[in-house]
Amino acid sequence: MSQTKGYAAMTAKAPLTPYVFERREPQQNDVAIDIKYCGICHSDIHQSRGEWSDYLEESIFPMVPGHEIAGVVTAVGSKVRKFKIGDRVGVGCFVDSCRTCVECKRGLEQYCTVHTVWTYNARDKEGKPTYGGYSSKIVVDENYVLRMPENLPLDACAPLLCAGITLYSPLKHWQAGPGKKVAIVGMGGLGHMGIKIGHALGAEVTVLSQSLKKQDDGKRMGADHFYATSEPEVFTKLKGYFDLIINTVSANMDWNQYLNLLRVDGSMVIVGIPERETPIGAFSLAAGRRSLAGSSIGGIQETQEMLNFCGKHKVACDIEVIPIQRVNEAYERVLKSDVRYRFVIDMASLKS
Ligand code: NAP
Ligand code: ZN
Ligand code: ZN
Repeated sequence: MSQTKGYAAMTAKAPLTPYVFERREPQQNDVAIDIKYCGICHSDIHQSRGEWSDYLEESIFPMVPGHEIAGVVTAVGSKVRKFKIGDRVGVGCFVDSCRTCVECKRGLEQYCTVHTVWTYNARDKEGKPTYGGYSSKIVVDENYVLRMPENLPLDACAPLLCAGITLYSPLKHWQAGPGKKVAIVGMGGLGHMGIKIGHALGAEVTVLSQSLKKQDDGKRMGADHFYATSEPEVFTKLKGYFDLIINTVSANMDWNQYLNLLRVDGSMVIVGIPERETPIGAFSLAAGRRSLAGSSIGGIQETQEMLNFCGKHKVACDIEVIPIQRVNEAYERVLKSDVRYRFVIDMASLKS
């Protein structure tokens, strides 16, 4: 076992504080990673505050959050073939899965029907709690480790491991590309990656944000249009306009209002996870043969494809790098939609 420094929530709603715990020694298929950076995803806040306890089997405390992990390989097990010491690697939202069910065989490990081992707030195959990336190092089976783009900075790529893939996967699945009108609702960590990736895929991208405060940034990132949803006439003007809407909002909102913005056969894909359930009127769907769908991150193969795509198109995240001592303050700013556009923790700060 190897002692690891990190930050944890000791109970739901407690602020994060320093925490020392044990990681396993690398086994024959494992890669040991020195964590350099870890992004702060809104899901970290939901989980460390126990907001998903109604939906998860359990919330496990102390909880070390973090699933946007970027680092460097420091050791490999005897059977590791894909990675060597010194490689720049990433770890996303899960670190193992059953590997044998239909979904795992299709490369959709995030939808494993037996046991997806989430990077934190979960139990591994032996029933031990998993701890995430707000920590100095991690040990992961090589099949669940990603290769980071060589031409882009590691800190700005860390959030690709969740925010990037969560937008890339539905944009690809619902065929965003030239001639398609795509709306991104909410311009936070996920949303800003939706703009960049949607634009790189060749789609016409519109941002629907609460205000126009982020308009200049949105346009710089590749948005063709930008609207404030606080202006009611936006919902009249854009009625029936979009082929695809990706909704990244973490708060409860009226989804019917947004479904009306879809053209016939359009789809709205929910990736934001509000705490409470949202009512849907049948007319919002039936009136335009519309679909309401959801999507969760992406599988290992697709995540690697996304990282390669980002390397090729020079797409990385807009980040604010912070020392880990400021993590609680960063959480408060995320909750106020005051993040430009992802906080990334510099893990060197753990030493101070
Ligand atoms: P974030 O950085 O906080 O962004 C959310 C954005 O939603 C905000 O920046 C804001 O954008 C908008 N928003 C916030 N409150 C709102 C309100 N009351 N009404 C309307 N819009 C509001 O969060 P994130 O990290 O991108 O995550 C977003 C959600 O996705 C979270 O619920 C997270 O748990 C979930 N998530 C899901 C997956 C998945 O696989 N499905 C993966 C990662 C995260 P504007 O300022 O532009 O309005
Ligand atoms: Zn996430
Ligand atoms: Zn499986």
